[in-house]
Amino acid sequence: MKLIDSSATHARPVIREKSCEILVVGAGLSGIGTAIKLKEAGFDDFIIVERAGSLGGTWRDNSYPGVTVDIPTIYYSFSFEQSAEWTTFYAPQSELLGYCHRLADKYQVEDHVVYDTLVEQSRYDGTRNEWVTQTASGVVYRSRFLITATGLFAVPRLPDIPGLKSFAGKTMHSKAWDHGYDFGGKQVAVIGTGATGVQIIPELAEVAGKLYVFQRTPTWVFPKPDKPIGPKMRWAMRHIPGFQPLLRLLSFAAIDMPLFGILGNFQRYGWLARRMRGLCIRHIARSVSDPALRAKLTPTFDFGCRRPTFSNKFYSAFERPNVELVTDRIQQVDEHAVVTVDGTERPIDVLVCATGFHVFEKDTNPAFPVYGTAGESLSEVWARGGHEAFKGSAVPGFPNFFLIYGPYSVSSLSFIRMIENAVLHILRVLKEARRLGASRVEVTSEAMEQDMSWVYARNSRRIWESGNCVGAGPPRANLKANPSIRSTNSFAAWKDQRFFPLSHYRFDRAPVVAFAADESRAVAE
Ligand code: NAP
Repeated sequence: MKLIDSSATHARPVIREKSCEILVVGAGLSGIGTAIKLKEAGFDDFIIVERAGSLGGTWRDNSYPGVTVDIPTIYYSFSFEQSAEWTTFYAPQSELLGYCHRLADKYQVEDHVVYDTLVEQSRYDGTRNEWVTQTASGVVYRSRFLITATGLFAVPRLPDIPGLKSFAGKTMHSKAWDHGYDFGGKQVAVIGTGATGVQIIPELAEVAGKLYVFQRTPTWVFPKPDKPIGPKMRWAMRHIPGFQPLLRLLSFAAIDMPLFGILGNFQRYGWLARRMRGLCIRHIARSVSDPALRAKLTPTFDFGCRRPTFSNKFYSAFERPNVELVTDRIQQVDEHAVVTVDGTERPIDVLVCATGFHVFEKDTNPAFPVYGTAGESLSEVWARGGHEAFKGSAVPGFPNFFLIYGPYSVSSLSFIRMIENAVLHILRVLKEARRLGASRVEVTSEAMEQDMSWVYARNSRRIWESGNCVGAGPPRANLKANPSIRSTNSFAAWKDQRFFPLSHYRFDRAPVVAFAADESRAVAE
């Protein structure tokens, strides 16, 4: 890593340039996991740029009340860095953020991180075989390789409700919680009943004077099989060889594989979805006494059409006298109230938007424009031809570039499994390039077409194509409409990333002038 001066040749004034072999964008769990594996493989010349002032990504940003991971943490952690510090099977945000920091300390990841650096765009420069990455601070990064680790949920979505801007009270998105705001006794509205809303609503119900929950689509909520992890269990996790791996295996076999199976292979797991649906109906019946309210909370579509959610407190929150479920559509928000289509005005002090994120929209993943050899951005390529990538990680026309959380890469409810699989892919290619002395690697179009044909053929097994998802959300107009879930399981995805033939990539000694602007590291191609 070297700070060097350069004469400005860019449209905006360049304060300075930095060069490195590999630029990683994002210091969340995927950036941290990438850094650990890069170091392990001896790739030390890398920089991680992070837009915020600290690391942790989603676990730094999402600190709303009630936030926990909603699959067992023993499985939602790196296989190579298991922790015996969890206090419950579903760890709260503070413990997950602590895990991120412990990893960063142990592997000295922060030596490589440059904080407060928002990437504006990255462009492949074919003449120099470099990625040129511009940041809002004016610093330009020149790197041989670019890895985007900006997360799937980087860009929050506010609801498209008329009048939202005219609301005079407090508005909060779940991703940017204002911990200084006192909800005690306030008139509160929550919009959204996805995985986030399900966690926030019971917490606010306990403190709000009045809580209006605006539900557009009901959600199947499964009882959460959570238990505290006591000192004896933690001792066993620390000291009994094989105990933690066994717990991981059980979590995979008992929770992740069947639940993800419902999403990715409904044809096989449809029977299980029906069983889960029955359990959710019993959960609603046990928690809610009013039949009319129960009916409003009960979806008509299959369990799994929306991401499975877990809570022991969500349904029962609606039994509280201060909580009202509103299913009439919101017409508008005015200065002091939410107005529904039936004309009812509900005055509020604060509006909480648990309305999710922009995912697989223009420049959301990665969260900035990336321009390849043809000068076209990845978003433009995807807008034209659909979201396609080779095993979710690489795209022809974008040499020396890798994605984490690319299209059709989700093969587990544990996003960490997915990160590990993507990093495995990336490291295999980087190591092969090093072995061959290649400075330019690019996946072939044939390899991507072959992989995508496999994906599209298997899509028919997924719940959106083979289950009843009418009324569950945006209509899936074609098979390419939900580009996240790969119809496989995380073990099969791991095998795939571990063993795909490296001949799917072209490895070249590119005719570059020099690497970055640092002549001392010029390559001799
Ligand atoms: P989400 O699943 O996209 O849900 C957004 C909610 O907002 C939906 O109920 C949606 O209703 C509603 N909504 C959006 N616009 C609206 C409008 N104009 N009017 C009324 N309702 C509106 O978002 P999320 O709950 O934040 O979850 C996002 C992702 O975060 C999940 O997929 C999950 O993977 C992740 N997550 C993970 C955890 C964890 O523990 N690991 C916890 C929380 C979240 P419709 O359904 O009708 O569109």
